[in-house]
Amino acid sequence: MDTSILHRDTWLEIHLDKIENNIKQLREYLPPYVKFMAAVKADAYGHGDLQVAKIALKANVDALAVSILSEALYLRKNGIKAPILVLTPILPSDVNIAIEYDISITVFQLSWLKEMRLYKVGRKPLKIHLKIDTGLGRIGLRNKEELEAMLPLLTKEDIVIEGVYTHFATANSKNSAYFNKQLEAFSDMAQWIKSEGLDVSIFHCANSAAALKYSNSFFDMVRIGVAIFGIYPSEDIRKTTPVHLESALSLHSKLLCVKKMKKGSFVGYDTAYETKSNEWIGTVPIGYADGWFRCFQGFHVLVDGQEMPIIGKICMDQFMVRLPEKYAIGTPVVLIGKDGSNEITLEDLANHIGSVPQEIPSMITYRVPKVYYYKGKIVEVLTERSWQPSKYPFNKAIADAK
Ligand SMILES: *Cc1c(COP(=O)(O)O)cnc(C)c1O
Repeated sequence: MDTSILHRDTWLEIHLDKIENNIKQLREYLPPYVKFMAAVKADAYGHGDLQVAKIALKANVDALAVSILSEALYLRKNGIKAPILVLTPILPSDVNIAIEYDISITVFQLSWLKEMRLYKVGRKPLKIHLKIDTGLGRIGLRNKEELEAMLPLLTKEDIVIEGVYTHFATANSKNSAYFNKQLEAFSDMAQWIKSEGLDVSIFHCANSAAALKYSNSFFDMVRIGVAIFGIYPSEDIRKTTPVHLESALSLHSKLLCVKKMKKGSFVGYDTAYETKSNEWIGTVPIGYADGWFRCFQGFHVLVDGQEMPIIGKICMDQFMVRLPEKYAIGTPVVLIGKDGSNEITLEDLANHIGSVPQEIPSMITYRVPKVYYYKGKIVEVLTERSWQPSKYPFNKAIADAK
């Protein structure tokens, strides 16, 4: 990789053809009548939401899901026309923005519906999906009584109930008991909603884990996140599913500094590492402010296809590795991905810090440039942070402050 346009020797590579292929595999596995909603929240789990949304739509997904309204607006303002559902409730005062940009929103509170009326202007319909809490204990209607109380406010001409959905707490677990309880609660609720005569076209509940494991959870649509990025929801699912997924992301850097340090020298903050003999020490220009966590201390990276231990404490912008011999400055370092016959996976890193694989890319920050590949060719390079300057005249605001 020629890094001259990146302004630094650290970058992410994202292979869009792999994401496309993961979606195609999932699509073939699902029955044709089941709609496919791709979850691209949190900047597509760190892969870049606009780029992933475009490739997902090229692979014929039906809809997109994001977490917050600003994520939906970013996609809309950049030309994405597909249905978008915001999974976390928006502010009641933003109701007109959702309508203006044709964004579907999640609703579950009576108080929200009442407050929204203070703001909504015009007769244009608001598209909503009702969220049911069947056992995650996060957000959603907890029972029929709560929904019954909302019915008079829902059956208005300017509200379209597009969907009803729930989210599973344990779909990736080996034990199916709690999953089955949630599924049953959702089926009951769906039955009841239909019997009440509410006009709902899409019932949906499955995330990646449920979609890959339980065909009775498909309903009208599945909401798939991790799987499109090539992350299996669990080892168990990896072993049992016929769907072959491939990771789309790798993280790269280059040795910035290589030096021989005498036995008894110290490396890093708090003199956390002491050389045990004369050792070759390399410095890698990526740190916790890039999303390369301090808790990766004690893990390793790949240089020349070999595992090199991370030593000392990880700094904000750099960290150190122990090398078995002298390596040239600029030697490639692989932090996530393959190098020769060796590989560091998101699962490996997640296991080291006691987390889930998707947390790792989600935390990589804007400072790390993203280089997009499609069938071996670079098709996009992102080197700038995506936030737009705000509407506040900064200098004036500072001057005016008392
Ligand atoms: C994130 C999310 C999904 C996707 O989950 P994955 O496990 O990444 O497939 C689906 N539904 C909701 C409500 C979510 O928050």
